[in-house]
Amino acid sequence: MKKRLPSDVYKALHKTTKYGASLDIDVANTVAAAMKNWAIENGATHYTHWFQPMTGVTAEKHDSFVSPRSNGEIIMEFSGKELVKGEPDASSFPSGGLRATFEARGYTAWDPSSPAFIKDKSLYIPTAFCSYSGEALDKKTPLLRSMDALNEQAVKVLHLLGKKDVTHIDTTIGSEQEYFLIDKDLYKKRKDLLLTGRTLLGAPAPKGQEMEDHYFGVLKPKVAAFMHDLDEELWKLGVPAKTKHNEVAPAQHELAPVFETANIACDHNQLTMEIMKKVADKHHFACLLHEKPFEGVNGSGKHDNWSIVTNTKLNLLDPGDDPYHNITFLVFLMATIAAVDNYQDLLRVSVASAGNDHRLGANEAPPAVVSIYVGDELAKVLHSIDTETFEGTTEKTEMSIGATVLPNFVKDTTDRNRTSPFAFTGNKFEFRMPGSALSVADPNIILNTAVASTLEDIYETLKDVKEEDMEAEIYKLLKKTLDEHKRILFNGNGYTDAWIEEAEKRGLYNLKSLPDAVPQLKDPKNVDLFTKYHIFTKEEIDSRYEIYLENYAKTIHIEALTMIDMVKRDFTPSLFKYMKGVEKELLQKKELLGAVHGYELRVLKELDACSVAIDEALEKLEADVIKAENTDDSLEKARLYHDVILEDMNLLRTPVDTAESKIPSEALNYPTYDELLFSL
Ligand code: ADP
Ligand code: MG
Repeated sequence: MKKRLPSDVYKALHKTTKYGASLDIDVANTVAAAMKNWAIENGATHYTHWFQPMTGVTAEKHDSFVSPRSNGEIIMEFSGKELVKGEPDASSFPSGGLRATFEARGYTAWDPSSPAFIKDKSLYIPTAFCSYSGEALDKKTPLLRSMDALNEQAVKVLHLLGKKDVTHIDTTIGSEQEYFLIDKDLYKKRKDLLLTGRTLLGAPAPKGQEMEDHYFGVLKPKVAAFMHDLDEELWKLGVPAKTKHNEVAPAQHELAPVFETANIACDHNQLTMEIMKKVADKHHFACLLHEKPFEGVNGSGKHDNWSIVTNTKLNLLDPGDDPYHNITFLVFLMATIAAVDNYQDLLRVSVASAGNDHRLGANEAPPAVVSIYVGDELAKVLHSIDTETFEGTTEKTEMSIGATVLPNFVKDTTDRNRTSPFAFTGNKFEFRMPGSALSVADPNIILNTAVASTLEDIYETLKDVKEEDMEAEIYKLLKKTLDEHKRILFNGNGYTDAWIEEAEKRGLYNLKSLPDAVPQLKDPKNVDLFTKYHIFTKEEIDSRYEIYLENYAKTIHIEALTMIDMVKRDFTPSLFKYMKGVEKELLQKKELLGAVHGYELRVLKELDACSVAIDEALEKLEADVIKAENTDDSLEKARLYHDVILEDMNLLRTPVDTAESKIPSEALNYPTYDELLFSL
C-alpha cells in the first residue's frame, strides 16, 4: 500500500485501519484503483466482497472488472463505491427471522482493517454483512463492535492508571486449529462423513490413542508434504502459519499461526480452514474439521489465545518481572477474571454447536463448566491480594537437567494445565472450549464485551479518586473483586467428577448442551450487556437465538436421516448377505455331520440378536424424527433432538457396531475405523 498509494491517501487509510477514522470517497476511489491495478498485475480478473454469514462458513460472489464502452472496447474498472459497498441478495442466508424474503436487500461493507488478498484469480475484499435496516447478519460486524467497546473502556482505564500515551488498544488472537486427515477414497465411501462430517456408525479399531505415540510423533512423509504445501498456500495469502505437529488422536494434526489483531486473526482462521480442505484434496486426502469425527478418540478443538496490546506495544496481560506491583497488569487480570465469572454462560453459548457438544465434558476437552486456571505463580500473587499483604517475589528458577552438555535455562513461571477451559499461559489467556469448526469470532465477541464491561465498572469506581490515593484504592478494589469472583478460579483437574460437584456448590453454570446453553442469550443481564455496548440489538439477539437452535435441530436431523439411510441401504444388506452365508454353512454342516454347533452357530445367533435390536431402534428413531420435525417451537424442537433423537441414534449405533465387529471388513459397504484412522 505504501508503495502504490499517494502518501496522503496512505496516511488517511492507515488512520482508518488502525484507529477507526471514517473514510471518504476520494480516498476509497484512489485505493480501489490501486487495488485493481495490483490485482490485475497478479492475474486477477474479478473481485469479490468476502463475508461471514451466520452459516459459519464464508460467502463470496464474483464480479469481473470488465466494463464495456459504447465504442465496443472494454476497460477494467473498479470504483471506490464498488470497493466500499456491495449488495448481495441476502434472502438465502440465515437471518433468524430478522429479514423476510421480500426484504431481500443486504449490504456488504468493506472492512479496511483486514487486508484484501488474491485467490483463484479474484481480488478478495473482506467485508461486513448487514440487512437493509443495518442489522448484523454476520460474525464480523459484532466482532468489530466488540473491539470498539473494549478499546473505549480499556483506554479510559489506562489513562486513569497514568498511561496517558495510550490512544488505542487491540485485541490479539492466535487460534490453534486441530484437524484430521484421512484418505480421500475412503472418505468418499462413507455417506456419514460426506454428509455430516462425522462417523455415525463404526466399531472402534483395535488400536486407538492409548499408546500416546501420535502426539508430536514423526510426521509421515505424505502428511509432511501436505503441511508444507499448506504453509506455503497460507503464507501467499498473508496468513502467518507458524507451528505444525501431530495431535493426540491417530490421523489428527494441528496448525497454529502467529497471533494477530482479532478481526484479522478471525478472517485468517476462516481462510486457514478453507485452504486446509483444498490442499488436502490436492494431496488425495480429506481434511475433517468436525469436532468429533470418530467415537473413542479425541475430537478437535480450536484454542483461542487472547490478549490485549496497546499502541505503545504493551501487552496488558504480561505480568513482567514484578507482577505484585504491576498495577496495570493486575487491573486487566482482575477485569478478565470478573468478566469470565459474570458471563460464564455467554462464553459457553459462544462455543455451542451440535458438533462441539460431543467434546465438552467428554474427558478430552474442557468440561462444559467454565473456570479459570491461573497457575502457581499468579495464584501466589492473587493470594497476596486476598491476604492484603500485596507483597511477594517472583523467583526465577534456573532449570538444570542434570547432564552437563545440556543448556541451563530459566523455568517458566506457569506450568500448563490442559484440562482448564480458560488458562493463563504466561502473557495471554487461552480459551480452550471452542470447537474446531467454529468461527473464532463468537467467543471473542463475548470476551471483548465482557471485559469492556468490567473495565467500565473499574473506571466508574476509580474515576474520582485523587492521584495520591489511587494505588491504595486500586488494591482495595482488587481485593473486593477477587472476593466476589474467586469461585471461578480453579487450578485442579477439570476432568474429574469431583470438580463438577464442587463447581455446582460454587454456583457455577454447567450448561451441558446447546439447548441448555442458548436460552442464556436472553437472560436480562446478558441482554443488558449486549445492548449497552451496542454489540447486538434485541432483534439481533433474537435472531441469533433462533439461528443457534435451528442449526442444531437441522444438523441432528440430517445426521439421523443419514444414519437411517446408511443402516438400511449400506449396513443391513451386508449383514444379511453375510448371515445368509453362515446359514448356508450351518445347513451343510447339519447335512454332513447331523448337528449344528461351533463358532458359526454362535455368530449367527449373535448377529440375529443384533438384527432384532437394529429393527427396534430403527423403528423408534424413524418415528421420533417425525415427531421432532412436527414441533414448532424452536427450543422445544432442539431439546427433542438432544434428549430423544441423539439417544435413539446411540441406541441404533450399538447393535450396528456390535454386528460390524463380527463380520469381515470386505463384506462391509464402507471402510471401518481401523482403515480410516490408519489410512495414511
Ligand atoms: P500451545 O499449543 O502450547 O498452546 P502454541 O505455540 O501452539 O501453544 O500456540 C500458542 C498460540 O498463542 C500461537 O498462535 C501464538 O501466536 C498465540 N499467542 C502468543 N502470544 C499471544 C498474545 N499476546 N495474544 C494472543 N495470542 C498469542
Ligand atoms: Mg494450546
